[in-house]
Amino acid sequence: MDTNLPQTSQPRIVIIGCGFAGLRLAKDLAKSPVQVVVIDRNNYHNFQPLLYQVATGALEADSIAYPIRKIFAGQPNFFFRMADVERIDSGRNTVVTSVGDIGYDHLVLATGSLTNFFGLESIEQNAMQIKSVPNSLNLRSYLFQNFEKALLTEDPGQRQALMNVVVVGGGPTGVEICGSLAEMRRDVLPQDYPELDLKKMEIYLIESGAEVLGPMSKESQEKGKTYLEDMGIHLRLNTHAQRYEDGKLYYSDTEFIRTQNLIWAAGVNGAAIDGLPEEVIARNKRVNVDTQNRVVGQRNVYAIGDVANMVTEEMPRGYPMLAPVAIQQAEQLADNFQRLLKGEELKPFKYLNKGSMAIVGRNRAVVDLPGDLHFSGFLGWLTWLFVHLMTLVGFRNKVITFISWGISYFSSDKALRLIIRPYKRHDFNDQQGVVAAEHKVATAQYHPPVAAPNAPVVGG
Ligand SMILES: Cc1cc2nc3c(=O)[nH]c(=O)nc-3n(C[C@H](O)[C@H](O)[C@H](O)COP(=O)(O)OP(=O)(O)OC[C@H]3O[C@@H](n4cnc5c(N)ncnc54)[C@H](O)[C@@H]3O)c2cc1C
Repeated sequence: MDTNLPQTSQPRIVIIGCGFAGLRLAKDLAKSPVQVVVIDRNNYHNFQPLLYQVATGALEADSIAYPIRKIFAGQPNFFFRMADVERIDSGRNTVVTSVGDIGYDHLVLATGSLTNFFGLESIEQNAMQIKSVPNSLNLRSYLFQNFEKALLTEDPGQRQALMNVVVVGGGPTGVEICGSLAEMRRDVLPQDYPELDLKKMEIYLIESGAEVLGPMSKESQEKGKTYLEDMGIHLRLNTHAQRYEDGKLYYSDTEFIRTQNLIWAAGVNGAAIDGLPEEVIARNKRVNVDTQNRVVGQRNVYAIGDVANMVTEEMPRGYPMLAPVAIQQAEQLADNFQRLLKGEELKPFKYLNKGSMAIVGRNRAVVDLPGDLHFSGFLGWLTWLFVHLMTLVGFRNKVITFISWGISYFSSDKALRLIIRPYKRHDFNDQQGVVAAEHKVATAQYHPPVAAPNAPVVGG
């Protein structure tokens, strides 16, 4: 079954994933004599660098996501199927999806990455992640739900655990969410919860390395650390999260932090798809590719973006999992497809590093530019806002985000604090429920606290 895709004499290029890489490749093939079929499990492209702002109520989910069909309206060679790709059958040049099989002449994996919990099962079952729109909406609801519960409990230890937040992973994502939570604690929560003593709300950042913002320059790392400390974040460097038990995050055999809000931002693996030979899957589950993004040993299968493991002299550990790498690999592959169609030799990928940046809060951001240039503070913050605004997909999203940021800047408010989840009566009416649910976490790992962090989100 070919899922009703039109038959064509043109070569069919199937792209799995419409993230940064898949989106750019499909766009760049608009004028090529090929049929482009994009498959994604979501019907929207999402801008992951701003997910943490959805999680902390600064932006609506709709302003960082954009419907795929709308992006490609008016591109006649584009076809979309919303489906989960389950397996690649390279012998039959087919991908097996949740809606049927789809044949290809060329296949491109642009499936991105998945959270890596490093085998820490108790953490995987209880921590919240920020990898998708539903994750972020869930995180927001869950945080506010715990504040509602904090009002109800008479046990000070339990109240503290409901207010404490522990973020694991001191890379840009962990740092950004900590900064945003600290602003929420200062500007939003005291307005909404005057009955709670918010001075007691503690935010911890746990990082296994000696620095935060590991991939950035020494200057940015130092500045980032200072910003976090100024904002009252407790940094635990050289510290490994070990397990989550009884509402406690252990970072050694005996030391722990009590929290009902555990956020995991400590690592990712490639989102490889079953069916490729084992030897092309690297340890971090990325797919080994050559310098033209062709999967090693495959004639017509490619991988780009986070899922691609391209090891070169310049990048002995593979290219970083960053949006600019994904976009540039997509551009190069689109160019190489044109060459392929003309029978020309393919060109190797060359990365143009445009720098990196991270935001910690209002007027606080760090920027590294090529040529050992670094800056921070208001200028860094402005640069971060501008770059992110310009890279957002869709005019509407740019305008809404700009307005939301403008309002937040002048009002110090984050407007979005709706709890949108299925309502369970005992969550709020029965204080025993809180205690019982805590007990559940300790005894049955598959039933996380009262409102499960990984429970499906309703609405948005
Ligand atoms: C919270 C967060 C913050 C970040 N901040 C930054 C930043 O500031 N700067 C930066 O450069 N990078 C940042 N990144 C990294 C950046 O988002 C990634 O490098 C980039 O998204 C990679 O693009 P991609 O196209 O390879 O994958 P993705 O953008 O992840 O897209 C993968 C797509 O594949 C789809 N998919 C996956 N598997 C399947 C399947 N089996 N079937 C169907 N569809 C599938 C997914 O639904 C998704 O749409 C951040 C990432 C996160 C999570």
